[in-house]
Amino acid sequence: MSDFTNKTVIITGAAMGLGLAAAEELASRGANLALVDYNQDALNKAKDELSGKYPDAKFLTVMADVSNEEAVKGYVNATVKEFGKIDGFYNNAGIEGKQAPLTEYDVNVFKKVVDINLMGVYYGLRYVIPVMQKNGGGRIVNVASVGGIRGVMNQTPYVATKHAVAGMSKNAALEYGRYGILTNAIAPGAIKTPMVAEAFREVNPDNPQAAEDEYASRNPTKKLGKSSDVASLVAFLLSDQNGYISGQVIAIDGGESNIY
Ligand code: NAD
Repeated sequence: MSDFTNKTVIITGAAMGLGLAAAEELASRGANLALVDYNQDALNKAKDELSGKYPDAKFLTVMADVSNEEAVKGYVNATVKEFGKIDGFYNNAGIEGKQAPLTEYDVNVFKKVVDINLMGVYYGLRYVIPVMQKNGGGRIVNVASVGGIRGVMNQTPYVATKHAVAGMSKNAALEYGRYGILTNAIAPGAIKTPMVAEAFREVNPDNPQAAEDEYASRNPTKKLGKSSDVASLVAFLLSDQNGYISGQVIAIDGGESNIY
C-alpha cells in the first residue's frame, strides 16, 4: 500500500519535464494516472517508460491540447470513464512563448500563450472541479511560476498568464474549499526541463551552457532546481497529507523570488 493507492490523478503536460517527473513520483506511490499531452509521440514514449518501470501502475494516455475546451472535456470524461473519479489534478501544461520586449511582442504568440497558460488552466478547473465536488473533494495544483509572483524581462505574456494562474488558484480555493477541494499554485524558479533548456538556447544560441551558468550564479543556492524537487512538492500537495493548505502560491526556487 502506498499513499496514492486507489487514487486517480490527471497530469497535463505529462510527456516531459515537470509533468513527467510528477508522473514518475505518483506512479511510484501507487496512483492511477491520466497522462495528457498534445505531443503524441512524446506521450507514447513517456507511457512506455513509466509502464516499464511501474508494471503494476495503471496509465491512461489522452492526446489533447489544453487550449481546446472540447479536448479538455474529452480528457476529463475519458479519465472518469476509465477510473471512475478524479482525486488529484496537476494542471501543469504551459509554454513560455518567445522572448521579446513588451512593445515588440508578436501578438499571435502572445495570444497563444494566453490560450494555453490561462485558458487551458481555466478549462481544466472548469471541468475537473464538478467531478471532485461529486466525489466529496480533491486536491488541485496549478502551475504558475516565479513569473507569477514578479516580473521577468522580455516575457510579458508568460508573466501575465502566470499571475492569472496564481489568481485563479486563490479563487478556486475560496469558492470550492467548502466541497473539500484544496487548490494551490506552485511557482517554480528555473528547473532543468526541456522548456528551460530552450530558453537558455534563445538567450545565448552560441553557448546555452554559459546562459545557464550565469542564471544559476544569481540563485541563492547557485544551481538550478531538478524536476524531481518539484515532483515531491506536487505529490505532497496532492496527497491526503495536505489537509489544510489551500489558496497559496508556493515558490520552489531556491529562494530566488526573495532577491531584491
Ligand atoms: P516542458 O516544455 O519541458 O514540458 C511541457 C509539456 O507540456 C510538454 O510535454 C508539452 O508537449 C506539453 N504541452 C505544452 N502545451 C500543451 C498544450 N497546449 N496541451 C497539452 N500539452 C501541452 O515544460 P516544463 O518546464 O516541464 O513546464 C511545465 C510547466 O511548468 C509549464 O506550465 C511551465 O510554464 C511551468 N514552469 C516551468 C519552470 C521551469 O523552470 N521548468 C518554471 C516555472 C514554471
